[in-house]
Amino acid sequence: MNILISGGAGFIGSHLCVKLLAKGHRVICVDNLITGSKENIKELLDNSNFNFIEFDISGPFYFKEDVDWVLHLASLASPKYYLNYPIKTLKSGLLGTYNCLGIAKNKKAKFLLASTSEIYGDPLVHPQPENYWGNVSSTGPRSCYDESKRAAEALTYAYFRQHSVDVRVARIFNTYGPNMHPDDGRVVSNFIVQALKSKDLTIYGDGKQSRSFCYIDDLLEGIQKLTEVDCTEPVNLGNSEEVTIAELAELILKETGSSSLVKNLSLPADDPKKRKPDITKAKEVLGWQPKTELKKGLQKTIEYFKKKLGKK
Ligand code: NAD
Ligand code: UDP
Repeated sequence: MNILISGGAGFIGSHLCVKLLAKGHRVICVDNLITGSKENIKELLDNSNFNFIEFDISGPFYFKEDVDWVLHLASLASPKYYLNYPIKTLKSGLLGTYNCLGIAKNKKAKFLLASTSEIYGDPLVHPQPENYWGNVSSTGPRSCYDESKRAAEALTYAYFRQHSVDVRVARIFNTYGPNMHPDDGRVVSNFIVQALKSKDLTIYGDGKQSRSFCYIDDLLEGIQKLTEVDCTEPVNLGNSEEVTIAELAELILKETGSSSLVKNLSLPADDPKKRKPDITKAKEVLGWQPKTELKKGLQKTIEYFKKKLGKK
């Protein structure tokens, strides 16, 4: 198949490119490299089945080739970046999704949206099932991300209803692993890099807020299974092993053997207090559930960052 991936030079996108090429597909990777990196895809650039196009998907995008799937991942994805670039974030979520859906419609391709647990906001229902409508601020600092992803879902279902585009919506919960950028700003990469550099681990707030972390290999399997079934409804993809951020810091200190200390900084506005996916639907519809324990996934991620930082 010919598969277009927007955001293919980023953390999740680059793994998807590798996986799809290994299966013999042809991959067209469109990325403006705002947070992604050519480093993530450097081994693919010589592959004749791989075509990298440096382009901002918020602008209209035309090309001649046929496409079987459009996987739309392009977005600023880390709070550190989307808080700094709120308008670009909205443009990727709104115009980028609109453009990618337009491509899917014109090429009669299937379309997958990388949505997010953030569409549940600071949830009042725990764990979060897909039929929970969320608790989201439309004006707060995170609204650029949360609301553009909610609008991206709305656009996706508008194209599904009005133009019969065959859609998939993956609601991705916190995912981590190799190819995360060391300066990405998300908690797993921050803590590992800080631990390996013997710097204090920066816990925002008291560290009692929780998240549920999914290892990249598990997420990739979930995305693949979602493309293989006939399910146009949103599906949560994430690990239901919930930890507090203070527990995560402790685990990373233990696994890196670091003697770093932790310091508490102020909690960013509207930081969700807890998050854990209800993955009943993914289990039933995809026959999928994550296999990688947090400790094991962290060990693999720590190995990656050791090499990346020249500590090995
Ligand atoms: P990432 O920042 O590593 O990757 C995003 C990629 O999109 C980058 O390569 C970036 O350069 C590119 N990009 C951004 N705006 C673009 C634009 N306008 N045009 C072209 N390319 C653009 O982040 P990631 O973690 O790999 O996230 C990928 C997708 O998954 C995002 O849509 C994100 O919202 C979603 N997601 C990720 C997580 C997670 O925990 N990693 C959780 C929920 C949802
Ligand atoms: N966090 C933290 N220290 C950091 C980075 C993040 O304590 O250096 C916290 C953040 O406040 C949030 C959680 O870790 O409560 C997860 O943050 P991340 O940015 O990884 O993703 P989010 O789930 O908020 O999108």
